[in-house]
Amino acid sequence: MAKFTETGLTYDDVLLVPAYSDLQPGDADTTTRLTRSLNLRIPLISAAMDTVTEARMAVAMARQGGIGILHRNLSIEEQAQQIDLVKRSEAGMVTNPVTCSPDDTLADVERLCAHYRISGVPVTDDKGVLVGIVTNRDMRFETDQSRPVRDVMTPMPLVTAPVGVSRDEAFELLRSHKVEKLPLVDAGGRLRGLITVKDFTKSEQYPLATKDVNGRLVVGGAVGVAGDAEKRAMALLEAGADVIVVDIAHGHSQGMYEMVAKVKKNGAADVIAGNIATRAGAQALIDAGADAVKVGVGPGSICTTRVVAGVGAPQVTAIYEASLACRPAGVPVIGDGGLQYSGDIAKALAAGADTVMLGSLLAGCEESPGELIFINGKQYKSYRGMGSLGAMRNRERGGSYSKDRYSQSDVANESLLIPEGIEGQVPYRGPVAAVAHQLIGGLRQAMWYTGCRTVPEMHERGQLMPITAAGLTESHPHDIQMTVEAPNYHGR
Ligand code: 5GP
Repeated sequence: MAKFTETGLTYDDVLLVPAYSDLQPGDADTTTRLTRSLNLRIPLISAAMDTVTEARMAVAMARQGGIGILHRNLSIEEQAQQIDLVKRSEAGMVTNPVTCSPDDTLADVERLCAHYRISGVPVTDDKGVLVGIVTNRDMRFETDQSRPVRDVMTPMPLVTAPVGVSRDEAFELLRSHKVEKLPLVDAGGRLRGLITVKDFTKSEQYPLATKDVNGRLVVGGAVGVAGDAEKRAMALLEAGADVIVVDIAHGHSQGMYEMVAKVKKNGAADVIAGNIATRAGAQALIDAGADAVKVGVGPGSICTTRVVAGVGAPQVTAIYEASLACRPAGVPVIGDGGLQYSGDIAKALAAGADTVMLGSLLAGCEESPGELIFINGKQYKSYRGMGSLGAMRNRERGGSYSKDRYSQSDVANESLLIPEGIEGQVPYRGPVAAVAHQLIGGLRQAMWYTGCRTVPEMHERGQLMPITAAGLTESHPHDIQMTVEAPNYHGR
């Protein structure tokens, strides 16, 4: 083995070479593979970080055609609950609807509705038989919150349908009876599912949404390899996670192989494994059975691994190296971290990535966890590394679950932790829909400039030209004082 490898390149080191094109940006197809069996309509994943992805972000990402990975810096129960929230948020059919009993109070129902962001719930007896439905309309003029549901609900007979009703038949029932919820019942009158009119309108509003076979939004959850990681993975699968991301800072390790094997043994979901930054690392994860490989050691905007440990590989080279192992094996590559502009998405795909995972580009969105912060009249949201002191302590959430991403779960004394990330804030960017529109718009422009109609064509034909520091200066706006920010450019 040579002591020195070849020079590694990252996003700012390269440009995509323009090439003959016979398409318009609108003709480009951004459909891509997330894992061996899951596809996305846009190649974007929101990072498993506690300032980026909880249920609200995951819902927004799936609606745009991407996916969110729920972070694991919270208890197993809380994380599973978040998965559940996403799976219930938009469904062709809710298979296991939230219900209440006729003896519950209106205050109980209000709490349920607020938690799940729903407008009403079917009422069932202790055998699961549908006895009525209680919705906002029934409760609006009630002043006494201690009244039992049985006094206020709309009782049976209700408009219902049998399990297995077709989408068109269900829509026709909702339309002709002017109702918003259609409970599905079996021959014994037991509640088996629920179809709501909201889901029909959402499907029209978000035509690219990433959905499972039951029409529910798709979501992933992150787990580690230490402690109760296996229990966490099983709880997430039970709650309906479509993909499990075994996510540690150094994925080229024995603990990772064992964990991938354990989750795969269950067989219910695809497994994404990472992070690695070399061809050998990628090959090891493929051999362990990973359904997608996540690439990135130290490129993240909040990451200090490369200076604290002196370890890493510039991201474009790392993606390319991983793709050399992954492409022949048919395993998709995820470029995780380090993207600053929409052009970096195109560069990642040309280097061999099938999708990219974003932290800082999404942390400023309305749907990320945390409140708006005002500083000198400007709006910000906080963003921190999962290896930052704050995240590893996680005092607010009562658990230091992210320590094991950095192999430090055994460090009990906080002052002895070795952080690999920092805490800060990013400018507020508005809703995910607007941010994703700009990011994917930039990618479509790149596909037009390079004459690539599809993501596989980007892999095959996208060519990257290394540039110098002068080339990078020329790439950004220069010799001008920027007075107005563009929605997709906020300076260097
Ligand atoms: P960004 O998009 O902000 O450049 O990078 C996000 C990615 O950085 C995450 O998906 C994750 O892989 C990585 N990451 C998150 N927190 C930390 C950290 O504290 N240290 C390191 N080394 N990487 C981090």
